[in-house]
Amino acid sequence: MSCSSFKFKCLQYFFILHIFASTSILLSSTHNSSINNFLEIANSSEVFDWMMSIRRKIHENPELCYEEFETSKLIRSELDKMDVPYKHPVAITGVIGFIGTGLSPFVALRADMDALPMQEMVEWEHKSKVDGKMHACGHDAHVTMLLAAAKILKHHEKEIQGTVVLVFQPAEEGGGGAKKILDAGALENVTAIFGLHIAPDIPIGEVASRPGPIMAGSGRFEAKISGKGGHAAIPQHSIDPILAASNVVISLQHLVSREADPLDSQVVTVTKFQGGSAFNVIPDYVIIGGTYRAFSKQSFNQLRKRIEQVIIGQAAVHRCNATIDFLDEVRPNYPPTVNNGDLHEHFVNVAVNMLGINKVNSAVTPSMAAEDFSFYQKVMPGYWFWLGVQNASHKRLQSLHSPYLEINEDGLPYGAALHASLAASYLLKYQQDVPGVERRYLDEL
Ligand SMILES: [Zn+2]
Ligand SMILES: [Zn+2]
Repeated sequence: MSCSSFKFKCLQYFFILHIFASTSILLSSTHNSSINNFLEIANSSEVFDWMMSIRRKIHENPELCYEEFETSKLIRSELDKMDVPYKHPVAITGVIGFIGTGLSPFVALRADMDALPMQEMVEWEHKSKVDGKMHACGHDAHVTMLLAAAKILKHHEKEIQGTVVLVFQPAEEGGGGAKKILDAGALENVTAIFGLHIAPDIPIGEVASRPGPIMAGSGRFEAKISGKGGHAAIPQHSIDPILAASNVVISLQHLVSREADPLDSQVVTVTKFQGGSAFNVIPDYVIIGGTYRAFSKQSFNQLRKRIEQVIIGQAAVHRCNATIDFLDEVRPNYPPTVNNGDLHEHFVNVAVNMLGINKVNSAVTPSMAAEDFSFYQKVMPGYWFWLGVQNASHKRLQSLHSPYLEINEDGLPYGAALHASLAASYLLKYQQDVPGVERRYLDEL
């Protein structure tokens, strides 16, 4: 290589690098300004007041697993007003909306819609109007934030470099609605999915997540332990299932404390113990039930195998018979929720830009709770994070699934803006990283 051609090459590289650098700066500044703008829109009184009215309407009318008909209707009527096209019904009550070019790449945002079968104990103007049903997991807020993200994204539709797929999903609380959405083929060409969950113990404007496992895999069991009923005062003529079941419960506790690796988190909890109805009668049988949790497939399967062996074995020690049902037909086991590493990086960038570095906990401790968002992550890269909705003034400890849960609605604009920014900037980045991506039409979704 001659000296002059070397100089020319250097100059060429300089220009390429320079152009590349300015393009990156341009993209990142566009990116930053739109992110800031998204939070501003979400916080504007017009959007904020609208969000409050939606959330409160859903909160007053909670619907359980696969019965979210009115919630689904409300979502569709809001999407109609925004002129956002959607598919319905998907997985009974589910709604899948589309914003953007209608072409690939497709990125999905998910909100679950169902409430819990429990009585709200919070006395406030918008308390649940349905006895025995309550939005105690904040899915009313999730729906609201995704609708607000739709509003923001629709406003910026011309800038969207692909299609944002809005997933309003039924039946997260035990019904595996996510799996039903996937089984319906509704997300076949989606390249990534984001989900969030309100966290009543995290301050407003803050988020928390981590790469890798963040929630455990979860299964259920129910066992019938049968003996022989009789007079409580003549136990020698009976086979007592109460005592047998009591020993089963104690023995099940040894699975985690004595058999599991202490560094491999696992849980076995018996939550149900039903038997007998009189003070002086030994019943014929007892029903027990509960949940088991683990992060790895191997530990999960091992727990399941040992739960069965312990129940049958301990029942036999007390001359009882036992049958076990892992309820696979009623509810699928939830896999562990495992966050994709590249999407974690993307999330941290977006969240730090929007909220500031001190407001983003990127190494939160994993939880033994479970989420059906994990079904999406089994078939595509997915990312799930906690969003702060803490009521700082409250003395009572706030937790999900509590009849006293009272979320701070000031957190909702952050969730809406993050949803919108995560999706819009993901598509921008995707176009940069995968140039010349083949464009596919919406019909293929
Ligand atoms: Zn829940
Ligand atoms: Zn939930």
